Amino acid sequence: MKIGIFSNKGTASTRVSNALKSKILDEHLTLDNDHPDIVITVGGDGTLLSAFHHYEDQLDSVRFVGIHTGHLGFYTDWRDYEVDELIDSLAHDNGQSVSYPLLDISIEYSNGDQQTMLALNESTIKKVTGTMLANVYIKDQLFELFRGDGLCVSTPTGSTAYNKSTGGAVISSELNVVQVSEIASINNRVFRTLGSPVIISPHEWVRVEPVQLDENLMTCDQKMVENRQIKSVTYRISNRRIAFAQYRHTQFWKRVSESFIGVKPIDQI
Ligand code: NAP
Ligand code: MN
Repeated sequence: MKIGIFSNKGTASTRVSNALKSKILDEHLTLDNDHPDIVITVGGDGTLLSAFHHYEDQLDSVRFVGIHTGHLGFYTDWRDYEVDELIDSLAHDNGQSVSYPLLDISIEYSNGDQQTMLALNESTIKKVTGTMLANVYIKDQLFELFRGDGLCVSTPTGSTAYNKSTGGAVISSELNVVQVSEIASINNRVFRTLGSPVIISPHEWVRVEPVQLDENLMTCDQKMVENRQIKSVTYRISNRRIAFAQYRHTQFWKRVSESFIGVKPIDQI
């Protein structure tokens, strides 16, 4: 089995990835960052996002495993002190995996150029100065004329990231849906948006057509999309997915509860 290691540059992560490398070689597993079967990320969720984009063209053959060296991560199941246990799981790997939906982004620029992108967390379209004015379609139905900072379109696993800050719902990673949430919409007698997040099915899509073509900023996960005149952006659930090697099962709702609430039984308060 070929293993790739994708680490951030922090001291703790460098120490962990060095330990990983020597243990992988001890176990007669192969290190291969170019065409790995498994990519181990060392860092935080941001590191996993970068690794996802680095291996975006190999999603059909790659499974990810995340080690976190910081606080509890969403895509990172393993702690830095569990390296031995992880190596043991890798040595006994039988291909077990769990996969999650991705967001397909199709951009049409005003000069007719087209570009497609894939997001693991979300894509946003927003205006930095002034407000963004955009026609929002669901399928071919004009749904609303949006005015505000922008829109955030997220996957279920991305629902705990930017989406949550905008008041979006946390979505079970078992659902194959995409959520659209508003970023500071203006609602008055003149401008009216739905005002609540919308969740669409795999058979539906959302198209955003900015009314003013200039200065609309688009993001795809941690990346900024090249600043060009955007005519429309269409969002739908991708037919590609991200796979994680599943050596143990961290319950999604346990992770949400521990990360955001840290709830304790009443006798421990
Ligand atoms: P960052 O500024 O370090 O990320 C912001 C925080 O989001 C970090 O604590 C990061 O965890 C966490 N995070 C990333 N993906 C998550 C997920 N799926 N569920 C819960 N938390 C998550 O930048 P980054 O590490 O490159 O991450 C990029 C992401 O930041 C974007 O995809 C977007 O979701 C998020 N973001 C959020 C806001 C906001 O909430 N207002 C604004 C911009 C971007 P780690 O510390 O483990 O990396
Ligand atoms: Mn980060």
